[in-house]
Amino acid sequence: MTSRFDQLADQVLAGKPATEDDALAVLRAHDDELLDVVAAAARLRREHFGNTVKVNYLVNLKSGLCPENCNYCSQALGSTADILKYKWLSTEEALEQAAAGLKGGATRVCMVSSGRGPTNKDVERVADMVGTLKTEHPEVEVCACLGLLKDGQAERLRDAGVDAYNHNINTAESHHDQIVQTHTYADRVDTVAKAKQAGLSPCSGLIAGLGETDEQLVEALFALRELESDSIPVNFLMPFDGTPFENTWELTPARCVLILAMARFVCPDREVRIAGGREMHLRSLQGLALHVANSIFLGDYLTSEGQAAQADLELIADHGFVVLGSQDDADGARGSVDPAKRRRGAGTVVAPNA
Ligand code: SF4
Repeated sequence: MTSRFDQLADQVLAGKPATEDDALAVLRAHDDELLDVVAAAARLRREHFGNTVKVNYLVNLKSGLCPENCNYCSQALGSTADILKYKWLSTEEALEQAAAGLKGGATRVCMVSSGRGPTNKDVERVADMVGTLKTEHPEVEVCACLGLLKDGQAERLRDAGVDAYNHNINTAESHHDQIVQTHTYADRVDTVAKAKQAGLSPCSGLIAGLGETDEQLVEALFALRELESDSIPVNFLMPFDGTPFENTWELTPARCVLILAMARFVCPDREVRIAGGREMHLRSLQGLALHVANSIFLGDYLTSEGQAAQADLELIADHGFVVLGSQDDADGARGSVDPAKRRRGAGTVVAPNA
């Protein structure tokens, strides 16, 4: 029997966009419909992205010490989260980090700095890093994420070789003022528009689990569709101790899959990226989520550690996907790993794996 979500996929594939009611229905699917939702959303994913997974790598150029008060952020003003804090990396340090990500299989490097927005000097610093990175790795895609942009800065970054600019709307306009007070939703939208006008590929997404309603999650996704965001990072709140959202746990693994599926139905041909909080919230459903989303970050996040990069690559291969731009992508080859020989538990003096 064809599920109601398959019918929705048929409709979207036929060119009729999902409505807000459709999106809400996906978000509110019953537990016993989870696989129906994934199977239907996977058809859209395969239609636009085949069996590829885009792998992105974050380089945190400047960490912590931010004057803004985004309540979810470990780097924010007032956060007492015990994170790494440092000022700008040098060009050499940034390149060393980026090279590690590229070696691991990433095709896009996301160069991020904390702060309200860059000064023109900061933009020049990043322009220099990007120029050097592109000289050494001409094939790499670079996304900059430096905060709110002033006039002319997006154009300067584009001229330096930046391909995309990330600035998340984070949540629905109707919920924005509950999560940050030092800048407005309109400020965020303005920066996405500036990036797009300059010819940079707009990357803008959200964070789920911030106390928003289902309707507000749908509102945020439709806003991203309206903004024509090419890439949509979907973050799941990591509730750092020392931030206003500490001890806020609103998400389940199945809920996270439904949120990603909703994003896929609303924006079927856009890169839907499973972003921060993937391991913590999706847990053993990370693989299922890859049948809906088509992009991940490799390795670590800005201020938190992800699972081992090798585990990310195995996750992709185990689910029958290939890393976009890799040799596997080119020739359809599949890797293999030797079984890890047991050296603990019975027959050893080492504690068992239990
Ligand atoms: S999200 Fe960005 S602007 Fe907001 S506090 Fe964190 S680093 Fe600062």
